[in-house]
Amino acid sequence: MNEVMYKDVKAKRVVLTATTIDIEWSDGQSSQYQARDMRLNCGCAECVEEWSQRRILDPASVPMDIKAEDYILVGNYAIQFLWSDAHYTGIYPFDVIRKLFPGKEKAGS
Ligand SMILES: [Zn+2]
Repeated sequence: MNEVMYKDVKAKRVVLTATTIDIEWSDGQSSQYQARDMRLNCGCAECVEEWSQRRILDPASVPMDIKAEDYILVGNYAIQFLWSDAHYTGIYPFDVIRKLFPGKEKAGS
């Protein structure tokens, strides 16, 4: 087994730009996400059918220039983005987005 657990990892710093979302994690790693990739991975009930986990979001319905306009930290485990297409319902648990787009060691290496 080589599965890394991110259960205790929290977002320390979140920076939103026009096209990306940069997150610095509490374990010293950082990740850069394309805003649109993040939006396409939304796991809310409007984007993923709950009982089957089937993705029902049509990527064509998401603007190419989508951006995260703001974010809210949810509890101490997740982040919620306010998207420029007025989609606010997605909650992204930290461990889920770390697994989706693994972080990179910062500096050096
Ligand atoms: Zn959604």
